[in-house]
Amino acid sequence: MALLEIEDIHVRYGDMVALRGLDLTVEEGEVVCIIGPNGAGKSTTLAAVAGGVRPYKGEVRYDGKPILGMPPDRIAALGVSLVPEGRHIFGSLTVAENLVLGAYMRSDRAEIARDRERILALLPRLAERIDFPAGRLSGGEQQMLAVARAVMTRPRLLLVDEPSLGLAPRIVDQIYEILLELRKTEGLTLVINEQSSNRVLKFADRVNVLRAGEIRLAGTAAELADGEAIRHAYFGFEKAAPAAAAPIQTQAQSQGGAA
Ligand code: ATP
Repeated sequence: MALLEIEDIHVRYGDMVALRGLDLTVEEGEVVCIIGPNGAGKSTTLAAVAGGVRPYKGEVRYDGKPILGMPPDRIAALGVSLVPEGRHIFGSLTVAENLVLGAYMRSDRAEIARDRERILALLPRLAERIDFPAGRLSGGEQQMLAVARAVMTRPRLLLVDEPSLGLAPRIVDQIYEILLELRKTEGLTLVINEQSSNRVLKFADRVNVLRAGEIRLAGTAAELADGEAIRHAYFGFEKAAPAAAAPIQTQAQSQGGAA
């Protein structure tokens, strides 16, 4: 049984249709990426799973149970955690305080402390800055903190919205390496949104291209590795038109006269 099954979901914001029949299945332990241009519906897809928006049609199952319509805190308690686009860390609180907020739904103090130490061992930059106000961290460190805070909820499914946003390529690689390490050590399953396929093809198991509220292409990273099919689906190119026929010469032209 898949860990996450999204079936034919449709979402509208007023008159604006954001998702028009989206299907996505994620197996336990996979890293699945959704890529697509601005406004394609990527954030809406993750919000529909986490309970932030309610599709008017379709079904979402987590671990075999329907979760559509449940409030976000109940979905989080089942093991689904969202790292939102733009990180949304609390800049005036310290790194340590931000991590505590990640565990606010838990009461197992000893376990919380152990999780904190285990996560910080993976993220030495955060451990060094544990008493710094989070607003003073670099963009990459803030992204690491947003991920660490989400992991403090003890999720099975981590939804990560555009972790690369505004970060240098070298830092993006570090973030992905951390996400893959967390998959291994915490047994996480990951769904990651991105605007470009640059990193995704290197790190994901499967890739979905979303455009105008629909999945236009889905495949394994190996199948899509050359990027060609992704480019077509992403930009919505139609099949290449046949080469234009050579202009027909008039009799006058073929005889060297003016047309
Ligand atoms: P981005 O990369 O810009 O975050 P996205 O692929 O995540 O884009 P969404 O944020 O899901 O796309 O937006 C899908 C569509 O829904 C867009 O046209 C967007 O303008 C619209 N939309 C998103 N949120 C709202 C909202 N709260 N109210 C009205 N329209 C919205």
